[in-house]
Amino acid sequence: MVASARILRHTEIARGIFDLRFFSPDAARTATPGQFVHIRVSDSFDFVLRRPLSVCRVDPSEGSVTVVYRVQGAGTRRLATMAAGAQLDVLGPLGQGFPLHAGDVRAVLVGGGVGVPPLVELAARLAAQGTAVTSVVGFQTRAQAILQDELALYGDVRTTTDDGSLGLRGLVTGVLTQGFVDGANRYYACGPTPMLQAVQRTMAGLQVPGYLSLEERMGCGFGICVGCVHPIERDGRVQNLKTCKDGPVFPAGEVLFT
Ligand SMILES: Cc1cc2nc3c(=O)[nH]c(=O)nc-3n(C[C@H](O)[C@H](O)[C@H](O)COP(=O)(O)OP(=O)(O)OC[C@H]3O[C@@H](n4cnc5c(N)ncnc54)[C@H](O)[C@@H]3O)c2cc1C
Repeated sequence: MVASARILRHTEIARGIFDLRFFSPDAARTATPGQFVHIRVSDSFDFVLRRPLSVCRVDPSEGSVTVVYRVQGAGTRRLATMAAGAQLDVLGPLGQGFPLHAGDVRAVLVGGGVGVPPLVELAARLAAQGTAVTSVVGFQTRAQAILQDELALYGDVRTTTDDGSLGLRGLVTGVLTQGFVDGANRYYACGPTPMLQAVQRTMAGLQVPGYLSLEERMGCGFGICVGCVHPIERDGRVQNLKTCKDGPVFPAGEVLFT
């Protein structure tokens, strides 16, 4: 559904990273963790393609949806200039989010950079159903670290940074050992493709099943333009599935990386 949504709050929470909350009661009621909204950042012809951003939090009582994004190029730079009170053109929620499994005792959440935002709503829903949550989040440096406090509301959080300026020095996969994942029924991961590949490999070795949220450049966002396909091995054959409509979340065992 396309809606004109009033911006309720728009703040820079880390260098070049913004928290954007908008009023959209229908989306706040229906969005599930791992889904995304597709935002038109301007009426100008230069920005005819919408920008996909993951749902970070929903608050059905306030009718609000929060996304957290990093300024990447011209579109997100334009978005960052919009102030509270302005109207935002939002399509969504779109895509298939992270499936929840009611019987899970423990889940490990793995996020990298601006792949961390969708894990916050996921952690909240897992905790609400009684699943213990442990999050492992990685950033390049302390200045880009976001949302650890929000995740800490729902369970333990381990942080890694490439330069060692916060938490453990190194990659998130350095934390994922046999002892660490003991008792975990499932993992959920979102982040840059090299991180997803490494996490997929590590967790397969540790025999924990999970889900990956893929990031592909998108056009329409609802499966018409076929601009965001990714090879997925399903039903015994490799299929080019649409990240926007069939994903962005896929079972980790089905995702092929070339
Ligand atoms: C399902 C999904 C969820 C996402 N969630 C988040 C999030 O929560 N926070 C966040 O910071 N970023 C997120 N991204 C990435 C974000 O969409 C891009 O950083 C953003 O579209 C860049 O737009 P731009 O105009 O600033 O950059 P430009 O590089 O100028 O963009 C040019 C075009 O490429 C597309 N594009 C560029 N980079 C990406 C990318 N990585 N993925 C998809 N399309 C891209 C843009 O939408 C635009 O159409 C998500 C991407 C996807 C696919």
